[in-house]
Amino acid sequence: MVNLPQDYINKMKKLMQEEYEAFIRSYDEPHVQGLRVNTLKIKIEDFLSINPFHLHHIPWVNEGFYYDMEDRPGKHPFHEAGLYYIQEPSAMAVGALADVKPGERILDLAAAPGGKSTHIAAKLQGKGLLVSNEIHPSRAKILSQNVERMGIKNCVVTNEHPERLAKKFKNYFHKILVDAPCSGEGMFRKDIEACNQWSLDNVSFCSDRQLDILENASEMLMPEGILIYSTCTFSPEENEGVIEQFLKIHKEFIIEKSKSFEGFDHGRAAWINSKNTDLNKTIRLWPHKLRGEGHFIAVLRKIDGEEQTKVKRDKKSMNKQHIKDYMDFTKSYLQYTPEGEFLLFGDHLYIVPDEMISLENLKVLRPGWHLGMFKKNRFEPSHALALSLKSTEVKNSIFLDSSSSKILSYLKGESLETAGNKGWNLVLVNGYSLGWGKLSNHVLKNHYPKGLRWVDY
Ligand code: SAM
Repeated sequence: MVNLPQDYINKMKKLMQEEYEAFIRSYDEPHVQGLRVNTLKIKIEDFLSINPFHLHHIPWVNEGFYYDMEDRPGKHPFHEAGLYYIQEPSAMAVGALADVKPGERILDLAAAPGGKSTHIAAKLQGKGLLVSNEIHPSRAKILSQNVERMGIKNCVVTNEHPERLAKKFKNYFHKILVDAPCSGEGMFRKDIEACNQWSLDNVSFCSDRQLDILENASEMLMPEGILIYSTCTFSPEENEGVIEQFLKIHKEFIIEKSKSFEGFDHGRAAWINSKNTDLNKTIRLWPHKLRGEGHFIAVLRKIDGEEQTKVKRDKKSMNKQHIKDYMDFTKSYLQYTPEGEFLLFGDHLYIVPDEMISLENLKVLRPGWHLGMFKKNRFEPSHALALSLKSTEVKNSIFLDSSSSKILSYLKGESLETAGNKGWNLVLVNGYSLGWGKLSNHVLKNHYPKGLRWVDY
């Protein structure tokens, strides 16, 4: 049992009343764990046919599954190949309720480590734009790595304060997700640190910050756009309370009724003494009512506002040598040449998503699809390119089985003795891309990134 703060216990008793006993008993239960199949890389049925874990379907997410305690999906080659993302089951409800449509422009304002962003990206199916932002530099780096691992091509990763983004993207996005930093009460079973840091003062600090973030988000949403607000906390001050305050200032927003599933509960206007019964349309997930941790979700629609201001991006062309080096690579090793708006970031070549506006003055970690880098008149493909390619899109590949010793050697960064065509080869695990290797004289030189290599396995 988690050692809960006394103020928290008192507060929850008052809030939950007759439900309190059932609620508090949930702390004696182990938390459940989930993975979400990355449908950008593999169909659900194909994953189930090669899946080595004990999976049970999560009712509210087609691609979501509980796995058993003895499973270790984080340490499996399929994880490194981006075939799934390990995500808390209740957190998957946000992506499931977001009603993402391919082609939309979506901003995830508080995105690290990337659970919800990678879910949204899968639903965009490579069409449209996803801007995934994280305010903390180290967390933004992890976010960027997850975007890469999941093979996402149309995502720009930024490391900005929401206020600075708001100045740039006026009325721009069809959808914005604010998965807000919160007091984390819904994660106490899973995250002891959140429990240790909890205080009534922190709840109040969090709600002020949440309102600030929503304020910035509102400026970036186009008319008829959808703002999704979520937290992993129970406190009404950070949930119904924040939405109530936001709606008081922003008459141009209304609460939408979202889809519900068995075990989902609704928010309560009464908990904050509000007369706005629309607050009861928000969603609450409780650990004693379903197999998952605590979550709150509100879906708001902007019914009025200014139209988007078009901001043109300066388009720069690549020099002839770079074009030649890139084309030499694609003609030799790929079945097609990825085209789009190229951007050179230092020596690194990217394709920027079509709908992206100017990146000027923004801290950008990933301006789009990373193709590779130029090195002394040759082009070297990136790990991001490897992870976004299908086996049918390359000329040379090396097929390895997930249970073979060769796959372990590859992930450890060792060279492999193998037959095949000379030059760049896409290394596949059970047919799904994992990284590059360069073959010469039957030896595959390992190009699996040094920072990702498995040690002491
Ligand atoms: N959406 C993420 C996911 O699904 O993986 C989880 C996001 S977490 C609940 C909230 C994030 O907000 C944290 O990564 C935190 O660093 C970030 N954050 C903290 N302060 C912030 C602020 N003032 N503005 C925006 N984001 C902030």
